Amino acid sequence: MSLTVKVMIGMIAGLILGVIFNMIDSDFINTHIVGGFFGMIGKMFVNALKMLVVPLVFFSLINGVTGIGDIRILGRVGGKSFVLYLTTTAIAIAVAILLATLVGPGQGFNMEGVDTSGVTGKEAPSVWDVFAGIVPTNPVAAFANGDMLQVIFYTVILGVAVLMLGGRSKAFVEGCEYMNELMMKVVSIVMAFAPYGVFCLIAKTFTEQGIELFGPVLAYVLTLVAALFLHLFVTLMLMLKLFTGLNPFIFMQKMRPAQIFAFSTASSNATIPVTLRSVTERVGVDNSVASFCVPFGATINMDGTAIMQGVATVFLANVYGIDLGLGGYITVIAMAVLASIGTAGVPGVGLVMLTMVLSQVGLPIEGIALILGVDRLMDMIRTAVNITGDAVVSTIVAKGENKIDLAVFNDPNAGLITDEDLDIDEAAEAELAQYAKPH
Ligand code: ASP
Repeated sequence: MSLTVKVMIGMIAGLILGVIFNMIDSDFINTHIVGGFFGMIGKMFVNALKMLVVPLVFFSLINGVTGIGDIRILGRVGGKSFVLYLTTTAIAIAVAILLATLVGPGQGFNMEGVDTSGVTGKEAPSVWDVFAGIVPTNPVAAFANGDMLQVIFYTVILGVAVLMLGGRSKAFVEGCEYMNELMMKVVSIVMAFAPYGVFCLIAKTFTEQGIELFGPVLAYVLTLVAALFLHLFVTLMLMLKLFTGLNPFIFMQKMRPAQIFAFSTASSNATIPVTLRSVTERVGVDNSVASFCVPFGATINMDGTAIMQGVATVFLANVYGIDLGLGGYITVIAMAVLASIGTAGVPGVGLVMLTMVLSQVGLPIEGIALILGVDRLMDMIRTAVNITGDAVVSTIVAKGENKIDLAVFNDPNAGLITDEDLDIDEAAEAELAQYAKPH
């Protein structure tokens, strides 16, 4: 059985058990089994994924930069992905606003009786601060905090310096190549536990998330999910087909494990190791492009989150009977795109961004209380959309640079993790033992 199938079984089993536990609603189950044991395994699994992110990005990005070998091409890859990321996010939210305006969720509802305590707003940082923050004052702190934009910035500069030193960097580059290979092996080991991790995460979420879908919120959820699916299956796939000519069905199938991880963890950042692996080893994008585009996208590209901002603003404007007008919606689009650059892909950050967007257009942020209860589930779905957007842009950029291996793309089994992956290479082990012996 392939790992993907096992992960999917884990997800479905977790979902079913979670719904059953939610209906049983026993204190013992909730505290000890779900909150305790499932919580522990799920947390361990997410921690293990996060533990891989910084070293993996560092070593693969150093290899990526030295692999490209030309600073101009590097600039082109960076520029193209930046523009594509912003464009896809802007399209995503514009379409979402249009759809929500047509459907009109939240009309005729009033906020009386809704508990709005516990909703706090956050000031939007200025565009200038967002960009200034990309340069770290202390790279060690950037690595320790996992601040991906800063990590990427520092690593790219280091990679460029490696290129400038030329032949003298050979040992360093070889060391990084080896470390990259090693980290990918660690990814395979962590992934072997994925079915259990995913099972526990999903079971826990669905046990805890009793979803009360009363009228207006149901309309919000349905509009949002429709907009997310529209972006995932139509906009992104059309772009993929148009810019690369690749088959969207094959692409989607290859991205499925990464989507499941994004769905289970609700964090684009924690999913980076899986997205990176899927994009390089299953889709066939060269590491020189993927190592930059994937972590960059996980931080600045949030199509699904932007869609949520769009639908939520229209919904709340309807609830409060406020007409935002074209200017208001254009502000929403600009704010959501900017906010997605400055905020990391971690669970629930979409809500924080929403408070910034709402206060910018003068909508009361207390309205968020209405959608809080369903946000976790929406977060899971939009994170899957976010990382698919990252993968699509990485593939488009790679195709433009001729950095994609079509044989890998067309091979359905390419990059599947099998039990053999986890075998110990006996010949190599014997060789290693030689080193260990005292001479
Ligand atoms: N959880 C999302 C992500 O990691 C961000 C959000 O929408 O809250 O991409």
